[in-house]
Amino acid sequence: MSDSPLIAPGSTIGILGGGQLGRMLILAGRPLGYRFVILDPDPACPAAGLADRQFVARYDDREAALDLARASDVVTYELEHVSAEVVAAIAAERPVRPGLHALRTTQDRLAEKRFLASIGVPTAPWREVRSLADLALGVAALGFPLRLKVAIGGYDGRSQVRIGDPAGVEAAWDLLGGVAEGVGLVLEREIDFAQEVSVVIARDVVGQTVAYPVTRNRHDAGILVESSAPAPGPRSLGPAVREIAQRVIVGLDAVGVVAVEMFQLPDGSLAVNEIAPRVHNSGHWTIEGARTSQFQQHVRAICGLPLGSVEMVAPAAAMVNLLGTGPDRPAGLDGLDAALRDPGADVHVYDKRRVFERRKMGHVTVTADLLGEAMARARAAASALTWEGGE
Ligand code: ADP
Ligand code: MG
Repeated sequence: MSDSPLIAPGSTIGILGGGQLGRMLILAGRPLGYRFVILDPDPACPAAGLADRQFVARYDDREAALDLARASDVVTYELEHVSAEVVAAIAAERPVRPGLHALRTTQDRLAEKRFLASIGVPTAPWREVRSLADLALGVAALGFPLRLKVAIGGYDGRSQVRIGDPAGVEAAWDLLGGVAEGVGLVLEREIDFAQEVSVVIARDVVGQTVAYPVTRNRHDAGILVESSAPAPGPRSLGPAVREIAQRVIVGLDAVGVVAVEMFQLPDGSLAVNEIAPRVHNSGHWTIEGARTSQFQQHVRAICGLPLGSVEMVAPAAAMVNLLGTGPDRPAGLDGLDAALRDPGADVHVYDKRRVFERRKMGHVTVTADLLGEAMARARAAASALTWEGGE
């Protein structure tokens, strides 16, 4: 496709958002010679110290987003909860990748579920809920246990509740019913999964795709705690997961990296939980564990470069998130010397100035010959790190 020219090194990549994903995108794109501008409301955001320039504004500030676009040759986003209207305005000025359609489809759980149904990809059985009557009908149709999720805006397990029994229905409605009529709710069956897996897939400007080995994920109360690759399972797991991801990324017409989260059921079948049209926490292990990290892969894809090898550099990789604990306070990292006593532990710190309960502060990756060893060492290094050193 000659209408998608190379965005050459020396060009500027604009990123909506300056969190840890933006930070790691910049760290991966610099070696290829790209420059970066970011838009984030926090002048001390994780990517602030690395970007060539920051527009300090809210993500829904249309004028600031247009300033970002005009300072960029291509624009991407590191969070999907940005206003589609703002992204549409940017798209009129500059290429936006993975793309506006991918963003619109995945930022609304209802649109996402409809999209998945339209391409024949299984999900948990679900119903759209706009009223208490919808909820009652949904409960009757789906049975317990259930999850009720706000359609737009939730992440890391926020804005959703579990409904275990009839008494839980009213409680869930009290909590989330207020937004049912406006943004909508998704009611879905809770899946009794064998494991949660995800895959990071990339698609370039000419439509070629490449997918990383399948990752196994462990969540705690909706937040990712640990990932490891390759995910255990039958030989058919990888091809089945990648076939679904391929259909998703083609259906979204996305250019760049997309992550697809799935449940593997006890019978081995798969159901898609969520799609993220961006680099993803469950792909962080690729920084040290694969020939090309998901971050550099994304930069390559959105700039029209050939995709890199997704081959693992070791038989196994494990990643453990560093999650904050305790009250909101200034963050000071303790224990780095102890964590690095394992010479194979790679510690990533996101440079967040404040820590609070469950905030993603960093992660640790270890690669090894055996998955058990990689995970044990990543956990050991992670457990040495605390956030007590702030003033
Ligand atoms: P978020 O956008 O916050 O990541 P998810 O819908 O992915 O929201 O939910 C977070 C986690 O909660 C999932 O990774 C999974 O562990 C659990 N979960 C969500 N929906 C279901 C479900 N239908 N069945 C079983 N577990 C679920
Ligand atoms: Mg999720």
